Parts: sequence; structure tokens; C-alpha cells
Amino acid sequence: MKFGTKALHAGIEPDPSTGAIMTPIFQTSTYVQEEPGVHKGYEYARTKNPTRDALEKNLAALENAQFGRCFGSGMSATETVIKTLNPGDEVISTSDLYGGTYRLFTKVFAKYGIKFTFVDMRDVSNIERVITNKTKLIWVETPTNPMMNILDIRAIADLGRKKNVMVAVDNTFASPYLQNPLDLGADIVMHSVTKYIAGHSDVVMGFLGTNDPVVDERFAFIQNSSGAIPGPQDCFLVLRGIKTLHIRMQRHCENGERIANYLKNHHKVEKVFWPGFEDHPNHEVAKSQMRGFGGMISFIQKEDTIEQANKTLRTFKIFSLAESLGGVESLVGHPASMTHASVPREQRLSVGLTDSLIRLSVGIEDVDDLIADLEQAIG
Ligand code: PLP
Repeated sequence: MKFGTKALHAGIEPDPSTGAIMTPIFQTSTYVQEEPGVHKGYEYARTKNPTRDALEKNLAALENAQFGRCFGSGMSATETVIKTLNPGDEVISTSDLYGGTYRLFTKVFAKYGIKFTFVDMRDVSNIERVITNKTKLIWVETPTNPMMNILDIRAIADLGRKKNVMVAVDNTFASPYLQNPLDLGADIVMHSVTKYIAGHSDVVMGFLGTNDPVVDERFAFIQNSSGAIPGPQDCFLVLRGIKTLHIRMQRHCENGERIANYLKNHHKVEKVFWPGFEDHPNHEVAKSQMRGFGGMISFIQKEDTIEQANKTLRTFKIFSLAESLGGVESLVGHPASMTHASVPREQRLSVGLTDSLIRLSVGIEDVDDLIADLEQAIG
């Protein structure tokens, strides 16, 4: 089955009791048993819920994963992966990483004796250099948030296999429509479902997919033990959102390309970060592992000051100043003070995330209106 067909049908059956074509919202905390241990496969809703089951199967199919688990947020999905580790274990991650992930690693898990090392993963030899016999996980994010750096999933997965280290990929920025990390050799794929997958800025949720039954078993154990599960109403909303994921992504990519090129030619813009440009670092890798370049774009104006950035941010009329990304409506953000405020300034600057960098999540509006909005905001 191709992507668009899977998006609509994978894991979804008409409701057996009524024939309802939409998966019902099973708003229940528990299930009646005929006698102790005799039930219809459901005992308690933290462990299993039919609406969540349908979504987990659907998302697993979109990522070509045998197993899928949903969580209450992207962060709780990431946390689940780290909770499979033990004190003394080491994790290598990329120095240009979503700020919340950086915070979770350094402020929450470091104190439990897990060591995190951050390197520039654009050069895979930087990872190899810091692997030790305690390294248990390589945490990849590509494209990265917000510098749009492209990391070579195939090469990192090969290294992981050679050194017997698990490789997990945060695939949030690409969405399963544009990139499937497991097909490229990764062991785990993670999503902030909140973003492109849900697509309508109305749900917070996370996802983990894998083809390894032992890894999935550990995820299931932590999902049930820790209980960071999404509610059935949210699962329903995401199932509905996914039905248009392929169509939305096509429009995000088209609008993204038009806007990236518009910004590149703007006399007041110094630099644009978008993986579709031929001169973007690792563009060839992006071409080989992505089916399109998406609608996430960052840029720096020639007047590279916080005042100029604030002036531009205040002036937008259609782009809304807000955290998050991947919804149908266009958003603009200021990573230094918003999504990446928890990353120390020196570390931000060392990866090029200047105080004035602006990040766009290009929505699916009419692109001419979006360009007109940028024109009046940048001036
Ligand atoms: N990963 C990336 C790349 C993100 O951008 C985000 C949120 O912005 C997350 C993970 C965290 O996801 P959530 O907000 O659903 O917890």
C-alpha cells in the first residue's frame, strides 16, 4: 500500500458493533470482565485502549514499523527511550538539538547517572571519536531544530550497528511522509505527533516505532508502568488529522520552497537555512533520505540584532508568533527566547543560533499571501 492509502486505512476497521467508519472514542478507564482474567483483550485503559490501538497501528504502518506506541507528549516518548537505559550508560547526541530534548537529557536524566555527550553529527567521525564501551544510544534529530542541519541516518545507523549501539531518530521535522528512519537502518523512530502528524495545533502527543520486539516490549512496559499515555479523544483527533497528512505535506513542501527562494533573494536577508537549497550543507544526503524538504525555514536578517528580529516578529499579520510547528496555519518563532531558551547562549551561538534567528513553520495558506506578509514584515 502506498502512503496516502495507508494514512487513511492502516490499522483502521469499521467498528464491529455498529459499522461506524470512524474509530469510536472509547472514553473509558476500565473494561468489564466476565470472570477474573476472562475479558475481550482489554483490562485497564492505561495499558490498552481501542482508539489508541488503532492510532498506534496506523502510525506504525506510516513509519514501516512492526510496532508502535503513543505517549502523552513527544517528550514522554523521548523519556521512555532514555528510561530503558541504566545508570552509567552513555548517550551521544547532536549539538544542535530541540531545546526541550537538551533540557530533558541534561537537567532530568544526567542526575540519574546517565552521561550525555553532544557532538556535531554532520561529520559522522565526530560520533565515532566519542563512542566508548558504555555508549548505549545515539540520539539523532534530522532536520535539526532550528538550524535545519541534515544528519546522515544511513551512515549513523551503520556506525551504530558496527559498535552495537542503538540509534534513535527524532523524525518530527520531516514527518513520516518525507522520511522513514527505520528504512534507513535506525532502530527507533520518535515523533512529536503534536506537529505535522496531528497537523491542526490541537493535540500534544508522542510516538515511538521500532521493528525490534524486545525494544517494543520495553517501551510497552514503561508506557504502562509510568503511564504517560494519550487520552482517547486526542487519539481520535490525530487519527482524523492523519487522513490528510500526505496532502498537507505536499502543500507545506510547495509553500516552503517558494518562501525559501523568496527569502534567499531578499536584499535584507543575510542567510536562509532550508535543506532544499543545493548549497545547504549535506543537501545530497537530504536528497537521498528525504522525499521533499518540508516547510520549516530559519533565516537571519542582514541587521542581525535582537531589536530588528523583534521588530519583524511584531509586524507579522498572517504568521502567528507562537511556539510549535507543523500545523496547517503558518507560525513564526524566535528560538533564542522561545523553543531554545533552555540552551546556554554560548552553546546556541556555537551552532549558529544567533539572538536574531527567526524560524518559520510555513502552513498551507495561499503562498502569495504568506509572501506578502513576509514582505511587509521584513520591509
Ligand atoms: N522533538 C522536536 C524536534 C520538537 O520540535 C519538539 C517540540 O517542539 C519535541 C520533540 C517535543 O514534543 P512535544 O512538544 O510533543 O512534547
